[in-house]
Amino acid sequence: MIFEQVRRGGCLSYLIGCPETRSAILVDPELDAIDQYVALAAEKGLRIRYLLDTHTHADHFTATRELSGQLGLPVVMHRNSAAPFADLRVEDGETLIVGKLRLQVLETPGHTNDSISLLMTDRVLTGDALLIGGTGRTDLPTGDPEVLYDSLFDKLLRLPDQLLVFPAHDYKGRSQSSIGVERTGNPRLQQRDRAAFVELMRGLDIAMPQHLTEALRTNRSGGKTVHQLIAEAARGIAFMSMEELCSHVEQGEQKLLLLDVRDRESFRAGHLPNAYNIPRGELELRADRELPDPTKRILTLCQFGKVSILAAHTLRAMGYPRAIALDGGLDAWLKAGHVLAERT
Ligand code: FE
Repeated sequence: MIFEQVRRGGCLSYLIGCPETRSAILVDPELDAIDQYVALAAEKGLRIRYLLDTHTHADHFTATRELSGQLGLPVVMHRNSAAPFADLRVEDGETLIVGKLRLQVLETPGHTNDSISLLMTDRVLTGDALLIGGTGRTDLPTGDPEVLYDSLFDKLLRLPDQLLVFPAHDYKGRSQSSIGVERTGNPRLQQRDRAAFVELMRGLDIAMPQHLTEALRTNRSGGKTVHQLIAEAARGIAFMSMEELCSHVEQGEQKLLLLDVRDRESFRAGHLPNAYNIPRGELELRADRELPDPTKRILTLCQFGKVSILAAHTLRAMGYPRAIALDGGLDAWLKAGHVLAERT
């Protein structure tokens, strides 16, 4: 078996391949690392056949939907998953065949109601049900400590001691454990009484993950992250560098329309000479009247260089093919030692 663990911060993804057929499955991939997985599969001579999420993640953005679109592959998730993009829904005991490998699905809910583990001959991927020296939390949406108790004590801990354990997270740099080691050493599993375990889990006070709402929203719905929307818009436009803008401003260039898309108050507090203000939110509705020349070159400006990307992209979509954005935004302009002299 070809078995690659990809660590990104505390998140662990897995590329598992059949050495004979070169088919592979990618488990719990993260959106930011798409190119890394595809490159790794190529480097190992593998062709990915399945994308799988062990559960609906609340702490990072899944790459399964995006990769599914790019590579034309099925997304495997538990039957209970809310994600509309999951097209191969599995249940307890079912087997996924990847080349000559067999991966058996174990329902291990509790961290979420759609958590699964993947059992192979010598190892098990436990998602966020069983972690090294810990367990998944049960205080996020669809989590339930009673249900997790059953998954741990009646399912995972009944597996053979020598079976290797590979979780979806580890924040201390550890890469693997075994059922036996966890059975005897995992502090949360020493509490074998159900009520005591549930009380222990309910009593945990763990910080909420960063991006919780956005991760749940996008992972459950197949919607896009803000970062994705901006990156997609950025791929559809060109940019102007600060140096280039400087020379335009110095020459008092009239052929370039400087379109400041910040709110009115920020614009009034200081802006570039000859800049014109239409806040991003009003752009579509005011364009006809105030930007009558679609052949004009338009440079969009904002504070941090993100809203201006969306604005330039919108303008292009509306029929202003020469809309571009300032690379870096006005913040970069100020940091480069320039001033926003004009006030109105
Ligand atoms: Fe999780």
